[in-house]
Amino acid sequence: MQRSLSLRLSGCAVVCLTILVGVWALLRPVPVMQITIPDTEFYRFPGVSGPGHVSVVPPAVPAKWTGYSQGTTSRLAILLTDPDSAWLGLAHGLKSIGVPFLITRNVQEAIRHQTILVYPTISGKVLSPEALRALAAFPRSGGTLIGVQVRGGGLNEVFGFDEAVDSHQRVEIEFGQTDSLLASFTEPRERRLSVGRRDRAADSMGTVGYTKNAVPLALFEDGTAAVTSKAYARGRTYAIGLDLGFLLLKGHNNRGEELVRDFDNQFDPMLDVWLRLLTQIYRSAEDRAVTLGTVPFGKSLSVLLTHDIDFTQSIKNAVDYAEYEKSQGLVGTYFIQAKYVRDYNDDVYFNETGVGYLTRLAELGVELGSHTIAHSAVFSKFPMGTGEEAYPAYVPFVKDMTTAYNGSILGELRISKYLLEHFSGQTVLSFRPGHLSNPFGLPQALLATGYRYSSTATANNSLTHLPYQLNYDRSTGSEVEIFEFPITIEDEELPKMGDRLPQALDVARKISRYGGLCVVLIHPNILDHKLAFEKGFVEGVRPYAWFGSIAQFGQWWAARNQVQLDVAREAAFFRMTITAPQPLSGLTINVPDGWRLQEPASRLKGIEQRGTSVLFSELRGTETLLFQARSSPNVAQESLIIDRRLRSGGRDVRS
Ligand SMILES: [Zn+2]
Repeated sequence: MQRSLSLRLSGCAVVCLTILVGVWALLRPVPVMQITIPDTEFYRFPGVSGPGHVSVVPPAVPAKWTGYSQGTTSRLAILLTDPDSAWLGLAHGLKSIGVPFLITRNVQEAIRHQTILVYPTISGKVLSPEALRALAAFPRSGGTLIGVQVRGGGLNEVFGFDEAVDSHQRVEIEFGQTDSLLASFTEPRERRLSVGRRDRAADSMGTVGYTKNAVPLALFEDGTAAVTSKAYARGRTYAIGLDLGFLLLKGHNNRGEELVRDFDNQFDPMLDVWLRLLTQIYRSAEDRAVTLGTVPFGKSLSVLLTHDIDFTQSIKNAVDYAEYEKSQGLVGTYFIQAKYVRDYNDDVYFNETGVGYLTRLAELGVELGSHTIAHSAVFSKFPMGTGEEAYPAYVPFVKDMTTAYNGSILGELRISKYLLEHFSGQTVLSFRPGHLSNPFGLPQALLATGYRYSSTATANNSLTHLPYQLNYDRSTGSEVEIFEFPITIEDEELPKMGDRLPQALDVARKISRYGGLCVVLIHPNILDHKLAFEKGFVEGVRPYAWFGSIAQFGQWWAARNQVQLDVAREAAFFRMTITAPQPLSGLTINVPDGWRLQEPASRLKGIEQRGTSVLFSELRGTETLLFQARSSPNVAQESLIIDRRLRSGGRDVRS
C-alpha cells in the first residue's frame, strides 16, 4: 500500500496538462510517457510470454431500476419518484445490509406493501395529486411511510413537521436517545454523523431540515430535524433530510473526501448507521421481515487476513505468515507485486528465486492476488491502455513518487494476473493496487481482465464496514459485477502495529455488533511485532469471527448478492421462499422474534434455527420453509392492506 502523496498542480498547469495530454493521446493510441528500458533493468523468464488474448473494456450499461423490481409485498417497497437519481446507491446499500426490497414507480403497487420508502424526494412536481393522496392515507391505514427529502406535496402534516428547509450549510447530524429504533447506536460515531465540513461548505451535500417535529429521531446542528417521526394508531412516518442514495454512492465510489475523518484503523460506520436504521424501521413495521445475514455460518464478524508483497524481503517472509495461518486452519490473501523491473521502488524480486517462494505460498494453500507490476503511486493517472499489453514487451518504470513511464491500467492488471497464474497454477481473482492508488476506470478494467474482487479502498475512506458492489467509472449510472472488500486495519500507521493490538481488537468488536467486515493488511517486510500482532488478533477475534481469503468471502458475498427472499402470510403459517441462483454455504437469515421453524425435515437438509437466526449449511436453488409465529399470522393486517388498495383509486407516479 503506502500512503499516496497528493499532487497539487495550479489550475493553469492542470488545464495546460489536460490539453497536452489530450492532443498527445489523439496522436498516439499508446500510453503517454514511453521510454526505452535496457534489458539489464528487467528480468526475462526464458520462454514465457503472454497473455495471448486481448482484454476488451466493456461499454457502460446504464443500470435500470427495473432490474430491482421483482418480488412480493413482504419486501420494503422503494417508490422511485425520479429515475434520474442515485437510487443505485440505495439498492446496493440495502443489498449489503440484507434487507429484501423492490423498486417500483407505481403507487398502487407500493401501497400493497407494509413499508414504503419514497426516494429521492416527495413533492408535487414528482407525484400526482392522486399518488400524494394515496401516500397520505397510507400511515392512517397502518402502513409505515419513509420519505426522503420531503419537500412538498402537502404531506407535511402526514410527516408531522411544519416546514422543510433546504440548506447547503449543515455539516452534522446527531441521533437522539429516546426511540427504541436507535438502541443499538451506542458508539459516539454512531450517534454523530457528518454530512459536510464547516471549512468546505461549498462541497457539502444539500440537506432538508424539518421544523417543529415533536419527536425527531435525529437533529442537524441548526436544530431542525434530520429524521422526523410521527406515530399513528398502527402506522408510522419518518422523513429523512438527506439523499441516502447519493451518500451511499459517495462512499461506494470513494468520492466522499469531505466526509472522511480518518484514513484507516478506526471505527467509522457512517453509511452503516443509515442502513441499520432502515433495517430497524423495516423490522418494526413488517411482521414478515426476514433479512439476510452478513457473515458466514452465523458468526458476527468476517475477518480477511491480507498481505501486500511489495519489497524484496517480503516474499520470503510471506512464507512464515502463510505457515502460521495454515497451522491455524486459516487462508490469507497475498497480493503480490510481479516486480520484474528494477526501478525507484526496489530491485527485481519476481525472478526465479521469487517464483520459488511464490510456488511455496501456493503449496501452503494461500490465495494469490495481484498487487500490480509497477506499484506506482500514480497508477490512478495511468491511461487505460490497449488491452494487448503482454510480457515481456511491457516494461513499466517508476521514476519517483509522481512519475512512471510505459504503464497502463490494463497492462498492470492483465500481465500481473498472467504471470501469477502461470507460475502458481491458481486463478487470480483479487486485486489491490500499490498505494491504494485508485483509477476511476478501475472497476471496468478489473472486469475486462477477469478479476472479481477488489480491496482498493479503506473502510474509513468508503465510510462503511460492509462490502459493496462497484460502479462503472466509480460513478452513478452503471454497476459492475465486481465487489469491494475495503481495508479496515493496516500496519503503516504509527505507533507500530505490535503496540496497537488492543485498539484493533476494539475496532473489530464494534464492527462485529452488526456483522461487519474486518480486512487486515500486514506487509510481511518484517516478522517480529507484525507477526505477533497477527497471532494476537486471530486469538482475540476467534470466538466470534469467521475467517477467509478475499476470494473465499468474495465468492460467498457475490452468491449472497443474488439471493431472493419473500415471505407469504398463510392461515396458520408464514411461508418463506428463498432462492440462491449460485450455491453458497453458511448463509443465515434473521427471522422475527417468536418464529419457529416448522419443517421437521429441515434438520436433515442442514437447516438449523438458533433463536432468531436460521442457518443454511448449504443453499442451492429454491427452498421453502414454514414458520409458526408466537401469535398466528395477522389476518387483520392483510385485510387492512386489501382495503387500502380498494379504497385508493389513485394513479401512478408521474413519469
Ligand atoms: Zn504495496
